[in-house]
Amino acid sequence: MYNILMSFYLILFFLFLVGLCIGSFLNVLIYRLEAKKRKSLNGRSFCPHCEEKIKWSDNIPVISWLILRGKCRSCKKEISIQYPLVELSTGLIFAATGYFFLQFGRFTALNFINIVFWLFFISSLIAIFVYDLKHRIIPDEIIYTALAVALIYVLTNVVLTGNISYLIDHLLSGLLAGGFFFTLATISNGKWMGGGDIKLVALMGLILGWQGTLVALYAAFFLGALVGVFTLISGKKKLGSKIPFGPFLVIGTFVGLFLGEHLVSFYVKLFL
Ligand SMILES: [Zn+2]
Repeated sequence: MYNILMSFYLILFFLFLVGLCIGSFLNVLIYRLEAKKRKSLNGRSFCPHCEEKIKWSDNIPVISWLILRGKCRSCKKEISIQYPLVELSTGLIFAATGYFFLQFGRFTALNFINIVFWLFFISSLIAIFVYDLKHRIIPDEIIYTALAVALIYVLTNVVLTGNISYLIDHLLSGLLAGGFFFTLATISNGKWMGGGDIKLVALMGLILGWQGTLVALYAAFFLGALVGVFTLISGKKKLGSKIPFGPFLVIGTFVGLFLGEHLVSFYVKLFL
């Protein structure tokens, strides 16, 4: 038991460290997508202001930002808080993913395979969250890659478990969620939802299945309404002005992943 517990926490800590580094990579990915891929993804990072190359010792996730107090070493211009925030969130969500898949000693091969898939989806979702928040658009490069991997994820699970209803559940959820948002986008002439949101909920349905998708959509709309009302009251936005919905969908997807089954069984117990 002691050994299992030790390896459990070691895996979580390892995932946290991996998450920090992936978060650092996501910052670079977001920046490069912003720069419309003028430069390749290879090579070391550089300061967006003075274009000075950043030494490896100044590029340690979170820690370097704290040591440099959020300023570039050579030009002293501010380094956005986006950098340490993305790194830290990715680290924490990576560790949480390990926790939810491996809790109570569920060290099965299928769980380990699914963790790898999930870490990929989570990385894509975090990049989408930041990009949509900043630019109100979901990059096709990220969402199409994630959709393709999601199909492989569903097929892998069906092959490994032999569970055909899993395939129907996840495929239908993706189609229905995407169709629902397509309808919303068509009715509102693209004002409520954009094309990116349609692809994002299709991804949500594919990876969560119907139970998780219901929880995720509920969480996204609830949170979206809450923030919408709050910004109206605070006078920051006028009625009908556009708040990107992608970030709410991303948070909803995380809620669906981590709490989906628990919330659904809770409601079922409550009302049935
Ligand atoms: Zn600089």
